[in-house]
Amino acid sequence: MINLMPTIFFGHGNPMNALSKNRYTEGWASIGKSIPRPKAVLAVSAHWYIPYCAVTSSLMPRTIHDFGGFPRELYQMKYPVSGSPELARHVKDLLPPALVRLDESWGLDHGTWVVLSHVFPNADIPVVQLGIDETQPPIFHYELGKQLKPLRKEGVLIIGSGNIVHNLTAYAWGNHDIHPFDWAVRFEEHVREMLRKCDDTPLVNYQGFGHDAILSVPTPEHYLPLLYMLGLREEKERVSFPVQGVDGGSVSMLAVQIG
Ligand code: ZN
Repeated sequence: MINLMPTIFFGHGNPMNALSKNRYTEGWASIGKSIPRPKAVLAVSAHWYIPYCAVTSSLMPRTIHDFGGFPRELYQMKYPVSGSPELARHVKDLLPPALVRLDESWGLDHGTWVVLSHVFPNADIPVVQLGIDETQPPIFHYELGKQLKPLRKEGVLIIGSGNIVHNLTAYAWGNHDIHPFDWAVRFEEHVREMLRKCDDTPLVNYQGFGHDAILSVPTPEHYLPLLYMLGLREEKERVSFPVQGVDGGSVSMLAVQIG
């Protein structure tokens, strides 16, 4: 039997998690130690939300500090990992090739490096990012995930980085442990329940969760990376939630591991 690399969705939350040690970052570090060492990482980050489909193809992707108003120390942080032009071309071939642009201008945004700096602190596993095409509906992203399935057999760790609940208007900056909003708890629980039941349709059509979905997913980019993990799942494959919690009342830090 072929060993499949797990696929994992991370809730990345506040960029300060790069510098912090807390229960979320400790959970990420534990994940890095518990899974087989991947040959490379393919990351789908909420923060590369663009009007076309692209993969990073540079040999040394830059660390992008795509946020404002944080301490200087955070802007000085680098994740000096190599890219993999070879994996980028392979991803392009697995997806409809005409669809995907090879991109040398982007690098690793904070959705990717904040998490990976804890999961793989030695920065010694090559990383490629796949952009999220903002012009496409949720089902498109789910289907792209399916087409990437061969990579799991080839030792590539595919991660999504976003947040299942991500409402910054309601977010209590600096008050991390505030009691979560009821709508955030309900929406996250809906998602977990559907994941346990292997019922993908309501997760793809998440707007069907009504008012809770409007508040939890006011914009799609932090939710959509999860749909790639769903597409990558084999039938009845095990799901677990190795990191849990809601930061600042309205940002779910739930990690979803498949396999
Ligand atoms: Zn984010």
